[in-house]
Amino acid sequence: MATMMALRKTERKRGAELQEIPIPEIKSNEVLIKIEASSLCGTDVHIYEWDSWAQSRIKNVPYTVGHETTGTVVKAGSGVGRAKEGDIVSVETHIPCLHCKQCMTGQMHICHNLQILGVDRDGAFAEYLVVPDVVLWKNDTSISPEFLSIQEPLGNAVHATLIEPVHGKSVVILGDGPIGLFAVGVARAAGATKIFLTGMEPFRMDIGKKMGADILIDVTKENAVEIVKDATGGIGADVVIEMSGAPRAMTDGIAMLRRGGRYCFFGIYKDNLVPTPLNDIIFNGGTFYGINGRLMFDTWFTVSNLLSSKRLDVTPVVTHKMPLTDFAKAFEMMIETPKKVGKIVLFPDASMMNGR
Ligand SMILES: [Zn+2]
Ligand SMILES: [Zn+2]
Repeated sequence: MATMMALRKTERKRGAELQEIPIPEIKSNEVLIKIEASSLCGTDVHIYEWDSWAQSRIKNVPYTVGHETTGTVVKAGSGVGRAKEGDIVSVETHIPCLHCKQCMTGQMHICHNLQILGVDRDGAFAEYLVVPDVVLWKNDTSISPEFLSIQEPLGNAVHATLIEPVHGKSVVILGDGPIGLFAVGVARAAGATKIFLTGMEPFRMDIGKKMGADILIDVTKENAVEIVKDATGGIGADVVIEMSGAPRAMTDGIAMLRRGGRYCFFGIYKDNLVPTPLNDIIFNGGTFYGINGRLMFDTWFTVSNLLSSKRLDVTPVVTHKMPLTDFAKAFEMMIETPKKVGKIVLFPDASMMNGR
């Protein structure tokens, strides 16, 4: 039986392990993808560290971790219509059931029976991956593998930033993680005219500057609400996008939003119940969104067009390319503070690190 290398969560404790396992079989509606590149995400780090979220969320081990990916279709089932052998694809990580009310009404990214790649089923830190037809995205092959692999988190940034137009508006991105940094670039490309980024990691704030942030706010030293209000004539920002998952950022964000503005909740909080200024939200009279995933596939078209057209350059965020065999080092780099990484992309075949 043919085998492959895969990064497996083998036990319900910290860590993960590279193992030799059989290359999976496909069903008629599935494809087998030979992975070129897969990027590391905060979700993978939670699973690696085995924090309380991972302990309650991960049902079955052993399984293969990873979900942000790109590769070549090497085998396609008879019922697959979206891609054929030889196509270079990425995958939407929200795997919808296609039968529930959301799936039937154009909201399959928030399917009632959603399965998440690399969480609920075997993921992408491996030489091969099996996914169903419905999540395939055919890539523009002029884009290099590391940028194709980050389209999924970039899609989060696009969906959160562009759920309403930002051109001519002041936009605050709360949080200097990779998706916040992507969001800065997206806001810039889409014509936002004053972009604030809050954070606490100098390395990442520097990247934020390169992505197009006009005003950087170090929340360990500065009062973000005052700075935003001062810079917006005292009224507050048109748009606030909360990407940090820090309760303080969330409440500051509400305080710095102008009346009738737009707010997006995207960062995940450690505790589900966080004290929230609800009266301020009511009297703000604005629009408050919860952001989960990306539109399928509206967001993917936007992401792909932004990258292909070079209107958006994500080079500053994608700071590291490493062989998959160096996964332990990569995870430790993601965890360590102060941060010295943006996005790390792992390659099962190290020769792909310099392009296809
Ligand atoms: Zn992710
Ligand atoms: Zn569904």
